[in-house]
Amino acid sequence: MILVTGGTGFIGSHTSVELLREGFEVLIADNLSNSYADVIDRIEEITGKRPFFERTDLSNSEETDLLFEKYPKIEAIIHFAASKAVGESVEKPLLYYKNNLNSLMNILENMKRHSVKNLVFSSSCTVYGEPDELPVHERSPIKIANSPYGNTKQISEEIIQDVAKVSSEINFISLRYFNPIGAHPSALIGELPLGIPNNLIPYITQTGYGLREALKVFGDDYNTPDGSAIRDYIDVVDLSRAHIISIKRLLNHKNKANFEIFNLGTGTGSSVFEVIRTFEKVCGQKINFKVVGRREGDIEKVWADTRYANEELGWKAEKTLGQSLKTAWDWENYYRKNLEKK
Ligand code: UDP
Repeated sequence: MILVTGGTGFIGSHTSVELLREGFEVLIADNLSNSYADVIDRIEEITGKRPFFERTDLSNSEETDLLFEKYPKIEAIIHFAASKAVGESVEKPLLYYKNNLNSLMNILENMKRHSVKNLVFSSSCTVYGEPDELPVHERSPIKIANSPYGNTKQISEEIIQDVAKVSSEINFISLRYFNPIGAHPSALIGELPLGIPNNLIPYITQTGYGLREALKVFGDDYNTPDGSAIRDYIDVVDLSRAHIISIKRLLNHKNKANFEIFNLGTGTGSSVFEVIRTFEKVCGQKINFKVVGRREGDIEKVWADTRYANEELGWKAEKTLGQSLKTAWDWENYYRKNLEKK
């Protein structure tokens, strides 16, 4: 049985689908603070299998202990559950440190107590900050975090590193995601931001659908070919596949060290204007936008060196930016027409 924390969230739900498809038994634990329980129904609709589900707050040690006592068959964990809004983390740093760090520590304690030997951790390219060299590889320097959210990812990796040193029987893989986008091709699950989206793609799809008047492009005076900032947008289903490969690597003892780190990106950067143009072309929907000032804390450009993940994991991103944007658009439409009113 694989425990997927945060399994009703964006990446967690897609990864649960892929795990079930591969024949794994899946237990989802989520406190539903930023997702909905009916995601479980749609995971079942896609796969024909229903994951176990527990509404658990993993930052609460008693609740976490109870979860592990109730499910003694957990073999491996994928730990997604975390607060992830950069802006909110600046406003409420303690909420972020408490939630993201306590949940990791509660899980690690229970792994020791119950002899669970494998953990895949959901990390982020934010650990690289504004990189000195591109593309960024796994040994590129870690920069001072520019938000409490980013800092929780750095500290979490340090905690894992320290535990890995003294617990050679436990194996860890940290996956550093670049910018996850897209949705399941069935359009039954996808990204579901609460309120006004912070991220580019949901803002674009909501603007396309007519929910927002115009996208604000944060800056066109960066040192990039068209002046807008560049990111490495990675499809959520491609990303999910990397988690299955990581879980199998751990369960089959194919890992080379008991703490490994991999970048998950496409290796290609796209600017904000390129994303808008690609969306308009692939989805046949114009996007109103206006250029405004830079967003505080934003970096100019970042994309991944994916060679290590390609070679070691045998994993490669397959979807193009256009394909991912199309699935995000299909999900936006399906959600607004079929699910929102429920
Ligand atoms: N962005 C934008 N308008 C928005 C949201 C994002 O221009 O409403 C830009 C942002 O400045 C960055 C890129 O889109 O260059 C990706 O931003 P996002 O918040 O999706 O991810 P981040 O890379 O900040 O984690």
